[in-house]
Amino acid sequence: MLTLQKRRLGRTDLQVSIIGFGGIPIIARSRTEAEEVVRYAYEKGVNYFDTARAYGDSEEKIGAALRDVRDKVVLATKTHQRTREDAARAGLKQSLRNLQTDRIDIVQLHGIDSEETLKKAMSTDGSLTALKEARAEGTIDYIGISGHNPYVLVKAIKTGEFDTVLVDFNVLNRKATEEVISLAKKLDVGIIIMKALGGCGSPLQHPQRNGTLLGKPELDWPDPSEFIAYFGKEGIDRAQRSLRFVLEHEISTIIPGFRSTEEVDYAVKVAEDFNGLTSIEKETYKFGELPPEPFCRECGLCKPCPDGVEIPTILRWDTYYTFYNIKRWTKEQYPKLRSRVNSCTECVRCEEKCPYHLPVIKMLKEAEKRLS
Ligand code: SF4
Ligand code: SF4
Repeated sequence: MLTLQKRRLGRTDLQVSIIGFGGIPIIARSRTEAEEVVRYAYEKGVNYFDTARAYGDSEEKIGAALRDVRDKVVLATKTHQRTREDAARAGLKQSLRNLQTDRIDIVQLHGIDSEETLKKAMSTDGSLTALKEARAEGTIDYIGISGHNPYVLVKAIKTGEFDTVLVDFNVLNRKATEEVISLAKKLDVGIIIMKALGGCGSPLQHPQRNGTLLGKPELDWPDPSEFIAYFGKEGIDRAQRSLRFVLEHEISTIIPGFRSTEEVDYAVKVAEDFNGLTSIEKETYKFGELPPEPFCRECGLCKPCPDGVEIPTILRWDTYYTFYNIKRWTKEQYPKLRSRVNSCTECVRCEEKCPYHLPVIKMLKEAEKRLS
């Protein structure tokens, strides 16, 4: 019988299933249905459950479903509070109650996407102090960080304060492979991957939208037919391919959002069957490659543009067009943007703020030529 492989979660030394449980979509299920999905995942070998104080009643549902097996699972939650007082009072105490435990394995600083937020959370009066105090008291074991901005995450990891990092990564979003993943490996920080199938902007993960892992795994990015073309063969299951691509990397666990037992079955089977990417897959996905310089890491630090130009979106779509060869979809999407490159007054503010020193104006003009 196949079993779900476990990997070491960095210096926490916890052994976590390579498929973890992302706790957003169960918000949309009834209490009974959600608990059934959580419990089912546990019975299939999933032992890493990721939630957040900010995910509605997700913590409560996970806590109730796993109450009697608490010591056999790894519970990870997040605090979106930024001050020591708020994190300790409103955040941690409530999370402990919701999860029905007196000890949480990992608490992560939630959504640290700017240097200002990182600085605030790491100040003496910041939420990190509350987490360290809780760790000293024994109510939490490890401290992690989550975010989407590689520039900020690298700075955070370098401080040595974090045992784990939760970062977005998928076949069309590889910025984490540039430095975050390798640095985390070097410093023995556990690596948890979110949005392996596209994330909250996709029909897959967002509870307010209809798609599911099985029903609509094409994300909101490329046109399905082009995505299939990109993956090489007609009829290939895109969710399977997306998961396999991420599994090939040196990460500890992937946490797709689950809302049904069928989705759990699906992802667990992909992981159980995984025995490395084939050479054809590697070639098709341009495995190990990043888009050529200059390319936008979508850190968002150039925002807001005073003239409303949607800089990271335009540059991401241009990367789809040039590097991934997703041409029709990008050309269809581009005219729908509210404010395009022709609104740019060349004030150069974006270039001054870009930490990667990208020639943003030139890149935008070239994107406009290709996509318009
Ligand atoms: S240079 Fe253009 S795109 Fe950049 S901030 Fe100024 S107006 Fe916006
Ligand atoms: S252009 Fe630079 S600052 Fe703006 S999102 Fe891309 S990498 Fe970040």
